[in-house]
Amino acid sequence: MFAQVIVDIAHSQVDKIFEYSCPSGTEVGCRVKVPFGGRIVEGFVIAVNETSTFDARKIKPITAVYDEQPALVPECFSLMEAIARRYRVPKAASLRLFLPTEMRLGKVNEAYEKRVRLKDGEISLKASAKKQAEAVEELKGGDKTLAYLVAKCGRAAINALVDKEIAEIYKVRRSRAPAGETAESLPKELTPAQKSAVEYIEKSDKRVNLIHGVTGSGKTEIYLNLIADQLQKGRTAIFLVPEISLTPQMLSQLRGRFGGEAAILHSGLSAGEKFDEWWRLRSGEAKIAIGARSAVFAPLQNIGLIIIDEEHDSSYHSETAPRYSTEEIAQMRAQYNDCKLVLGSATPSVESFIKAKDGEYGLIKLTERINGKPLPEIIIADMRREIKRGNPSIFSRALREELDETLSTGNQAIIFLNRRGYSSSVICTDCGYVAKCAECDVSLTYHSEEDCLKCHYCGAKYKMLTACPECGGKRLRYSGTGTQRVVGELKELFPSASIIRMDNDTVSGKDGHYKILKQFGEHKADILVGTQMIAKGHDFPSVTLVGILDADMSLHFSDYRSGERTFQLITQVAGRSGRADDKGKVVLQTYSPENYILRYAVAYDYDGFFENEVKMRAAALFPPYSLICRIMVTSEDNDSALEALKKAYFAVEDIRKRDAGDFLFLNKMHSPIKKIQGKVRYQVLVRLKSRKHLEELYDIAVAACTPSALVYVEENPVNLS
Ligand code: ADP
Ligand code: ZN
Repeated sequence: MFAQVIVDIAHSQVDKIFEYSCPSGTEVGCRVKVPFGGRIVEGFVIAVNETSTFDARKIKPITAVYDEQPALVPECFSLMEAIARRYRVPKAASLRLFLPTEMRLGKVNEAYEKRVRLKDGEISLKASAKKQAEAVEELKGGDKTLAYLVAKCGRAAINALVDKEIAEIYKVRRSRAPAGETAESLPKELTPAQKSAVEYIEKSDKRVNLIHGVTGSGKTEIYLNLIADQLQKGRTAIFLVPEISLTPQMLSQLRGRFGGEAAILHSGLSAGEKFDEWWRLRSGEAKIAIGARSAVFAPLQNIGLIIIDEEHDSSYHSETAPRYSTEEIAQMRAQYNDCKLVLGSATPSVESFIKAKDGEYGLIKLTERINGKPLPEIIIADMRREIKRGNPSIFSRALREELDETLSTGNQAIIFLNRRGYSSSVICTDCGYVAKCAECDVSLTYHSEEDCLKCHYCGAKYKMLTACPECGGKRLRYSGTGTQRVVGELKELFPSASIIRMDNDTVSGKDGHYKILKQFGEHKADILVGTQMIAKGHDFPSVTLVGILDADMSLHFSDYRSGERTFQLITQVAGRSGRADDKGKVVLQTYSPENYILRYAVAYDYDGFFENEVKMRAAALFPPYSLICRIMVTSEDNDSALEALKKAYFAVEDIRKRDAGDFLFLNKMHSPIKKIQGKVRYQVLVRLKSRKHLEELYDIAVAACTPSALVYVEENPVNLS
């Protein structure tokens, strides 16, 4: 027998299929060890044949075959090709996506337990073999674990019994089930809106269906129903969420509803737990894979449904190679399995909503919260006026009053600090002016090491401002409050309130987040102060007030998506308020209350926001009406990086010479962050009218790669730093 093997070395020079002779019984999808270039490396069997086309004497045998069910499902091989082609990565790199890292690197294995049992047949032992006789007596009473017998009778005795074929050692798999809470979660009777959403999706002739449902409209229950229907049909499901370890309620709800049929892959699991959950899916014991981005590669067969919840979330784009889009992979799998892909969000991404409007995706709208609960009222607090009034505090008068009211009625509040925007853009606290690039109409980013402002799109540099060009005011701000200062002020204002804070600086590990959210969920604190990570889908019934500090800060990110991001963020954060019986409120503090994005957000006017955004992007030729590509070059050596950069740049120049009409922008420059972890960073930035040259850009990146410089392509990058 001969096996076609892909060796687990992600390098373009070994991106081939190698042939080895293999023992009979070797199956497609098996993990194997093979000799390769003087070493023993891991590989995957992608085909097994009776004969070989090579000279049989030159073919080396496989060193070992893992004694387990084949790790890879047949679908992997079809997707492997597609992914390798689409993102220009070696086949081994795309196969790796389908295996948990822990397994590939051999860090963990199945938790097996070795046991000993007697074999059939006569037992005759020498009188002197006392220990062996003792072991046989033990085994006559039933199988024992090897560890127990070794401790009791010694290793030599057991070995002797095995040699004489009196006893045998066998393995059973021991599952490390992840710990966690399970809340009772009975199926709810669907509301008419939910019912018709489920029916629409199941009857739809569209491969992809988008649920645009306001926060609290009961999307989760729709997903659970769709999943249950597929399970009933004997099919499986993948349910993707942005970061499941941050949403403990969702976790316990899923466990409660589906029990052992659900396998939850999240970053809070130990390597062993993840490994076992993965095998439960592979073996068919579990039928629903739930997890973040990487769970889209879950080893399920006969998939009947794939769900991407909060589809607008940027975590669905991988920022490491292969830089895949989760939605694209999900579409490939949906195609392969002939099943539906469901996207859900209160604030769908502009790209997805355009497709829904154009009829490419099915569209379901849920405009009401469950039980007709109103969406929380959003009050705008104009922080320019607060400053003029002589209020130096981080908190507007409106927010203080609402906090007072909330605490006195025994409810809870969330204070959301939009800190990611802080350190970058420059804002005049008198008039709300924000420094922008004259060429690109995006806000400039402050670079402290050079004390200047830069545009991340064209690389233009501007002098740091000393006064506001609009009003002459001198109160410019470009670095702001941290959560710590917010908590400090809150403690002074509300000495008797109990406050917890959650951000990346205060919490170590995902477990820490979980604990804080659990504490808050159990009402062990009155106010939760946090950054982006508290915006995601939590359902805290006692929260009736959400304060958003500096709501407009993310408007001024140097990114064409900043308007969209701000709208999404405000809607999501506001959605945490008033989810149960008491009416919710939101206070939104801003320096630019007249900004149209904020106006749309306050009115919950997604359609208005969308129409406007689409018009602007079409006029300015930003994605999806163009394609922004960044060819990144990184290296530990500056000269190697520059050489690769030049090579890539001139190759792109050549395309432009042929087809200047498709180019909106082309330049090469330092990346905004010039060095990360000792590696210099350069980029060729292109904005193209169409996608027709995309493949060539990938070719250019592959060709410009050298042993010392890494070159790769990012499409419409989420992060331009
Ligand atoms: P979304 O994901 O759209 O923000 P959720 O799925 O979190 O909304 O639902 C909001 C709340 O409504 C949750 O507390 C949920 O338990 C409840 N809920 C959902 N569907 C129903 C239903 N059919 N009957 C009663 N309560 C429901
Ligand atoms: Zn610019």
